[in-house]
Amino acid sequence: MRAFDFPFETVEISCPVCGRFGRYSKQRFVELVGANTALPTALDIIAKDCSEDRPSIANMQGRCRAQYPQLLRMNSIKNTHQS
Ligand SMILES: [Zn+2]
Repeated sequence: MRAFDFPFETVEISCPVCGRFGRYSKQRFVELVGANTALPTALDIIAKDCSEDRPSIANMQGRCRAQYPQLLRMNSIKNTHQS
């Protein structure tokens, strides 16, 4: 899934480790990260000012856990939906 595929008009990003919570209009989000940017990469871009480092191949110690809470909620109810 890429930035322009995000299924909501508002993009929420939260990080339980750093205590951040951000809410962007989808338009603003796409401007920030680029429409063709994969969502995990977009998360790295948005969370680069988090107080903890993002985990990566080069930095396995990164503790930041920024995530898209809306997508987590979607995944948790997917099994009960027929489409
Ligand atoms: Zn963080």
